[in-house]
Amino acid sequence: MSQLTIALTKGRILQETLPLLAAAGIEPLEDISKSRKLTFETSSQNVRLLILRGVDVPTYVEFGAADVGVSGKDTLIEHNSNSYYEPLDLQIAKCRMMTAGIVGKPVKPGRIRVATKYVNLAKRYYAEQGRQVDVIKLYGAMELAPIMNLCDEIVDIVDTGNTLKANGLEARDKIADISSRLIVNKASMKMKHCEIEALIDAIGSAVSERN
Ligand code: AMP
Repeated sequence: MSQLTIALTKGRILQETLPLLAAAGIEPLEDISKSRKLTFETSSQNVRLLILRGVDVPTYVEFGAADVGVSGKDTLIEHNSNSYYEPLDLQIAKCRMMTAGIVGKPVKPGRIRVATKYVNLAKRYYAEQGRQVDVIKLYGAMELAPIMNLCDEIVDIVDTGNTLKANGLEARDKIADISSRLIVNKASMKMKHCEIEALIDAIGSAVSERN
């Protein structure tokens, strides 16, 4: 049996991924949350886990440093590559990619400034809408930017909407529904077909049962 390396996104997505992996018979041999290690052996002898920042998962899978990955659709849209397969919607970490602005403030006509972590996604979205924008890259606390007059709108993930509300913002347009996806390196899909098909089937069944 070939060795399979699965790249996981740490944080909220990881917490929701582990039960699906467990249902597929893959459990880390140590408690990931209590360790500073980045790789973990599992109860399945041929499967190893990598714990990465979400933005790095598509890169690991694209270059074959991992065979399989779990990544938010937001990250995949931003990464904008067709160099891996996306065979399974895990239906976890669901949220929406939205535009947002200051409550009650009318949308300015003409060119606007948009702050976001998702620069590629935002540029494509506003271009499709035929709207002229200058996109500013931020790495966090997007919600502060409109209040401080850094921008007119932000593009960000919204779940309950509480973060927007707490900062005097309101969601405007939905860009996409987001959930986490299983992605697979193209060469691995050929070379390790049996193992990867079995993994997709097992996780797919776990997703169906959970829903
Ligand atoms: P909320 O206040 O529930 O709308 O959550 C908003 C913030 O939580 C966003 O700014 C995101 O940073 C984060 N967040 C919520 N859901 C997700 C998710 N599924 N994946 C990644 N980040 C999320």
